[in-house]
Amino acid sequence: MTLKLDELGVPFIEGGWPSSNPKDKEYFKALRDVSLSYSKVTAFGSTRRKGIPAYKDEGLQSIVESDVEWATIFGKSWDLHVTHVLGASLEENLEMVADSIEYLVGHGLNVIFDAEHFYDGFKANKEYALKVIKTAAEAGASRVVLCDTNGGTLPWEFVEITREVLRMFVTPLGVHCHNDSGMAVANSLLAVVEGVFQVQGTINGIGERCGNADLCQVIPSLELKMGVKSVSGPLKKISEVSSYIYELTNLKPNPYQPYVGKYAFAHKGGVHIDAVLKVERSYEHVDPASVGNMRIIALSEVAGRTAIVAKAKELGFELDRNSEETLRLLNRVKQLESMGYQLENANGTFYIMLLEELGLKMDWLKLISWKTLVEGKNGEVVSESTVRVKVGDRVFHEISEGDGPVHAQDMAIRKALVESYPEIEKVRLINYKVTTVDVHPGIDDKTGTGATVRVFIEFSDGQETWATVGVSPNILKATKEALLDGYSYYIHRTRLSHSQRRV
Ligand SMILES: [Zn+2]
Repeated sequence: MTLKLDELGVPFIEGGWPSSNPKDKEYFKALRDVSLSYSKVTAFGSTRRKGIPAYKDEGLQSIVESDVEWATIFGKSWDLHVTHVLGASLEENLEMVADSIEYLVGHGLNVIFDAEHFYDGFKANKEYALKVIKTAAEAGASRVVLCDTNGGTLPWEFVEITREVLRMFVTPLGVHCHNDSGMAVANSLLAVVEGVFQVQGTINGIGERCGNADLCQVIPSLELKMGVKSVSGPLKKISEVSSYIYELTNLKPNPYQPYVGKYAFAHKGGVHIDAVLKVERSYEHVDPASVGNMRIIALSEVAGRTAIVAKAKELGFELDRNSEETLRLLNRVKQLESMGYQLENANGTFYIMLLEELGLKMDWLKLISWKTLVEGKNGEVVSESTVRVKVGDRVFHEISEGDGPVHAQDMAIRKALVESYPEIEKVRLINYKVTTVDVHPGIDDKTGTGATVRVFIEFSDGQETWATVGVSPNILKATKEALLDGYSYYIHRTRLSHSQRRV
C-alpha cells in the first residue's frame, strides 16, 4: 500500500500507530529496507498521557523508535474533551501538547500536530482552542492541522474559522476533514483556496463513520481545476490506486465515485451518447484519461444506434450506423431490456448477440439437455447436475456434484467443454449475482419466490474480465444461459481470428 501511494506521489503517508499494535510496529521495521521516491512516512500517536513526563510515555517512545523523520501526533483542542473525556485540567492539556512536541523535536523529528475537534472547540471556547495550537507552534511543531473531527462543520463556518486562524498564524496550516455532513471534500478544497498548506485525507474516503475527505476527489480537483500541484507522481495513477485500495481492504468499490468510479464517465441516454461522441466535453467535466479512468458507452433501452456502433467498436467490430445489422441489434437490445435483461455491463452477452447478427457465431458448443437435482436426505443436501453438450460432432455427457445446484451446473458444463477447449481451465467466476426483476412494473408485479430473476456473472482469465446476464423465472435456467454465454464468449474471443472479426 505504501509503495502504491508512493507511485502516486503523495507527500505524506501516515504509516501507522506504532504503540497501538504489534503489526504497526512491524510495519515501521519493514519500512527501513524500503526506499521511496516521493513520499515521507510519518508515525502516528497522541500527546503524552496525563500525569507522566513525556520521556516515560510509551506512545511517544515508540514513535522515536520507529526511526522516521516525521511524526504526526494529535491532541485535544476542545475544552469539553479535555475536561469531560480526558479528565484533565485545561492547563495540563496545554502542558501535554508542549511536552510531547518538545520531546519529539528534541529527538530530531519534525512534528505535524493534529488539533483534534478544532472547529467544534473554536465554536465552544475560541480562546482555548487557539491557545492549544499556539502552544503547539511554540513547542516546535512544523505544521498545525485543524481537524473537523466530527465532520459537522458546514462550508461557510469552516471558511470563516479557517480564515481567522490563518490571519493570526505563521506556522503552515493543514486541515483534516471528516465527512459526516458530506462536506469533507468541499471543506478541504475551500481550505486550500484560503491558503492552507496541507490536506489530510484517505484514498476512497475510507475512515471512521462517514469517512474522511476522499483524496481521489481532492487530488484531481486540486490538480485539474485549481492549478495546485499536490502529488509528484502521475495523476492518472489515481484510478489504479483507488481500486488497489478497495481490493486490499476487501471493500466494494463505489461505481458512482467521482473521477475514479466505474460509472464516473458512463453515458447511457442516446442523446448523451450522440453528443459525447461528437464533443467529449459536452457531457464530461474532465478527460477520463487524465485520472486513468475510461469512458463507458452503456447499452440500454434508451440507447440508440450510436451506442450499438460504439459498443461493437470496443469489441473490435466496425459497424455501419445505417446497416441492417445495427438496426437488428438495437431492436434486440431494446427487446431484451424490456424483458429484464440489463446489458449495460454484460459485454459478454452483447458479444454473443453481435456474432449471431453478423453470422459469425460458430456452433462450437451446443447444450442439448441439462438436468439439476437437489436432494435432502438425513440432514444432508446433495446437488448434482447432468449435461449433454455437443462440441463439433461429438456429444459429451457429464455429471457433476457441487456445493449447491448452481455450482454443480457450472462444474458439469466445464467438464463437458474442457477436453475440446482446454483454455477454459483459466476461466474463473469472480462474481455471481441474482436480482429479482420487475418485468412490467405496476402491471403484473410478481414478487416473492415466483419472481423472474436476473443472473449476472462476471468471469476472468486473470487478464481480461467479461460479464454475462441471463433472465428467467427459473434461477437455474437464467444461470445456465449466463454461464454458456460466458464460456462461449471466451472460446470465440480466443479462437476467432482477427480478420474474421473485422466486418
Ligand atoms: Zn480523523
